[in-house]
Amino acid sequence: MKCPYCNDDMMLGIICGGKDSVKWIPKEKDKGAILSSFVKGITILEWMDSKVEGHYCEKCKKIIIDVPKQL
Ligand SMILES: [Zn+2]
Repeated sequence: MKCPYCNDDMMLGIICGGKDSVKWIPKEKDKGAILSSFVKGITILEWMDSKVEGHYCEKCKKIIIDVPKQL
């Protein structure tokens, strides 16, 4: 995959889940780690052992991931 910013090749990697789910939430709803678990956001990773593929651009420090289907 080509980086949309610099058009170089991106490195395929994996983002692994930790103890809690990993979510994207709108910036204005960011009220800290505890409250953010109550905010309806986009879940990227559910549990430990879950993982998602991401394309990384070393030059731009960007990672592009596919958002899993939301339940
Ligand atoms: Zn780039």
